[in-house]
Amino acid sequence: MNVIRISDALSLNRVRKLIVDRFGEDAINLILYLSERSYVQESIIMNDTGIPQKSLQRSLLRMESEGVVDCKKEVDNKSYVTYYWKLDIGSLERFIYENTIGKFDALIDRLEAGEELYYCPSCSQLEILHYDSEEAIDYKFKCPECGSELVPLTTETVENLKRNYLK
Ligand SMILES: [Zn+2]
Repeated sequence: MNVIRISDALSLNRVRKLIVDRFGEDAINLILYLSERSYVQESIIMNDTGIPQKSLQRSLLRMESEGVVDCKKEVDNKSYVTYYWKLDIGSLERFIYENTIGKFDALIDRLEAGEELYYCPSCSQLEILHYDSEEAIDYKFKCPECGSELVPLTTETVENLKRNYLK
């Protein structure tokens, strides 16, 4: 599995936090609204959702730069531009996956490929603060953030942290 379904994902606090951090505080409402529609005119989104214009535009632009919304422009004969926006659900699911549990899966892939990785148990509650073996040697197996002993990372550790992450 390499995606998370939007409806499931948005019920997770970590995903909600990711969306708010990256796309702005109104982005969750915006996503829920757009997920049930095709291209919607920007002013209609604003009217329907009640999201203030500045916040809406900021969210849409940030989402566009991550490729999770698509924009269509229409220019009338007075050069007036109208914007239409559509959510790219597949891209959004991929974005969420890659920024949440995908990071754990990527580490598992590296470990299964035989790479030696080290991590700091104290600094790895939500994210895994990890180093490759060269870095670990450079740091003399002490975490550069907190000074704790660096420990070899195992797939079991990653799985455990991944489970905690999704709680
Ligand atoms: Zn540490």
